[in-house]
Amino acid sequence: MSFRATIQPSGHNFPIEEHETILEAAIKHGYILPYNCRDGVCGVCKGKIAEGRVDYGKYLASTLTDVEKAAGMALFCCAKPQSDLVIECREVNAVSDIPVRTMPCRVQKMDKLAEDVMVLQLRLPTNERLQFLAGQYISILLKDQKPRSFSLANAPHNDEFLELHVRLITGGAFTGHVFNEMKERDILRIRGPLGTFFLREDSDKPVIFVASGTGFAPIKAIIEHALHIDLKRTMHFYWGVHKLADFYMLEKAKQWESSGVKFTPVLSEPLPSDNWQGRIGLVHQAVLDDFRDLSEYEVYACGAPVMVEAARRDYTVQRGLPEDAFFSDMFTFTPKE
Ligand SMILES: Cc1cc2nc3c(=O)[nH]c(=O)nc-3n(C[C@H](O)[C@H](O)[C@H](O)COP(=O)(O)OP(=O)(O)OC[C@H]3O[C@@H](n4cnc5c(N)ncnc54)[C@H](O)[C@@H]3O)c2cc1C
Repeated sequence: MSFRATIQPSGHNFPIEEHETILEAAIKHGYILPYNCRDGVCGVCKGKIAEGRVDYGKYLASTLTDVEKAAGMALFCCAKPQSDLVIECREVNAVSDIPVRTMPCRVQKMDKLAEDVMVLQLRLPTNERLQFLAGQYISILLKDQKPRSFSLANAPHNDEFLELHVRLITGGAFTGHVFNEMKERDILRIRGPLGTFFLREDSDKPVIFVASGTGFAPIKAIIEHALHIDLKRTMHFYWGVHKLADFYMLEKAKQWESSGVKFTPVLSEPLPSDNWQGRIGLVHQAVLDDFRDLSEYEVYACGAPVMVEAARRDYTVQRGLPEDAFFSDMFTFTPKE
């Protein structure tokens, strides 16, 4: 059975199914409420049911006392609707509303999907979840060294594990460790979420995503989030690598096409054995070739600094993209101490 929930004071409202928690339904429809564990333990998602009835679900008794329940409070990560609802809580409208946390995590899985790309799944401690916006990154904290940044490749609705796509850097201390010494079940310390590379959902402009190499990671998170909330904007995705084997998740990107994301893979140095019939050249140039006027678009670019810099310069100067419609994360190296 389907109901409607209204958030006060914002007045935002969204459909909610009988089997969904308030938090799940809110996130699904693009409204981020404060949360952490999603397991009825931490209490961060506690808010008021101003009107309507809920099934309170399973939660830790000390986190929501009977006195609080009598006063109309509920844990939105556990409570499911039994009628239309009016709830009172704050919405997370900006990254500044999301707490930055330091926590340990376990390496759950390591998959080497290309010669120089390792996909890591990190598991947080029991009852802990990291709240973040699709596209943000975390820092890996290292002993006696500066932290290393890696983008989260999963979207917030799918947060059982944190997914990282790590490219091996020749001479790189941390990525060398990942490829040569790290094992599943090792413990890492992370800090996050960080950054402002996330989809601006208050716009209805068509979107162009441009990624080079593992710049795919945050773009994957954003596209998965966009598809999850059924974003109605036109989406184009350009992904550039050197040779065919560097497309470490090609099938995933191709699958998005059936949901309406136009995907253009681009190789800069295809091997004869690749037998490549697709686009050849620099990925940012492929966008220039396809669009004469970008004045009504938003561009999200991520990956090698040289690609991101060229994209910003050429799209704004040559194609009329407004400066404030260009969003990027550059995969710079961590500066030396
Ligand atoms: C916001 C953000 C998000 C990012 N997300 C990702 C991601 O999702 N995936 C990804 O693959 N990368 C990502 N990066 C890039 C990643 O953080 C860097 O590649 C990182 O520095 C690699 O760490 P490392 O310890 O392996 O290399 P480092 O040890 O930092 O070495 C980097 C480079 O410096 C050279 N170097 C090392 N020591 C010295 C020295 N003493 N003097 C001179 N040169 C030296 C190395 O040879 C190497 O070329 C991101 C970067 C940023 C800023």
